[in-house]
Amino acid sequence: MTPARPVETWLTDMDGVLVHEEDPIPGAAEFVAALRSSGRPFLVLTNNSIFTPRDLRARLGRSGIDVPEESIWTSALATADFLAEQRPGGSAFAVGEAGLTTALHDIGYVLTDRDPDYVVLGETRTYSFEAITTAIRLIEAGARFIATNPDPSGPSAQGTLPATGSVAALISTATRRRPYFVGKPNPLMMRSALNRLEAHSETTVMVGDRMDTDIVSGLEAGLRTVLVLSGSTGAAEVEQFPYRPTRVLDSVADLVPLVERLADGDDVEG
Ligand SMILES: [Mg+2]
Repeated sequence: MTPARPVETWLTDMDGVLVHEEDPIPGAAEFVAALRSSGRPFLVLTNNSIFTPRDLRARLGRSGIDVPEESIWTSALATADFLAEQRPGGSAFAVGEAGLTTALHDIGYVLTDRDPDYVVLGETRTYSFEAITTAIRLIEAGARFIATNPDPSGPSAQGTLPATGSVAALISTATRRRPYFVGKPNPLMMRSALNRLEAHSETTVMVGDRMDTDIVSGLEAGLRTVLVLSGSTGAAEVEQFPYRPTRVLDSVADLVPLVERLADGDDVEG
């Protein structure tokens, strides 16, 4: 038995782990407070590319969860990070909301519909036929196709909402080009989060509610993983997957007493 590696850094998914849409999950505020008082670096991860970290901080705040702006990592930020590495000072035609356009501006990108390096698709609730047509024509003319995340749909109080993956499929069908998806389950999302924190995979834990996104991408990025059963994946489904999380807990409430103990080298496997 090798001794347990201490947990120095935490990554945690947002929806289904800290909140259900606007409603806080019991224990989430305490979990974030425990992370903050421990002084351990952490990031709240979300595939949602609609909002800026400032917007998300305000939304979480209304749910009673106090997360600093700099502790929020969205698929839009990961996409911008990726583009800044790949092609610094480039240009893009963006289909999305402020979360995406702000992130692209912040890396010095020019947003244009004239011969852009990339078409970047994010999530929006106001997809326009005109913008999608422009995206299709720019991709046909040679722009590289990037999408913030592959999620086909998202939840709402009224029912299913089409999301980025579905619109990407529409553009793919028209252009016969597949986008490169940056958000979960691409482990790039985890790696960029680790880079942002200057953290190491072997001393970081990823907390998530979905086996096929959070847990698999955490695993592929070399992290230990905690599945919480407060969201998407149910207890009965866990064993059906060809991979398993390091630990399964009912919710983040169970992590509150563990933050300090895991930093001292207690085993995540419990
Ligand atoms: Mg989730």
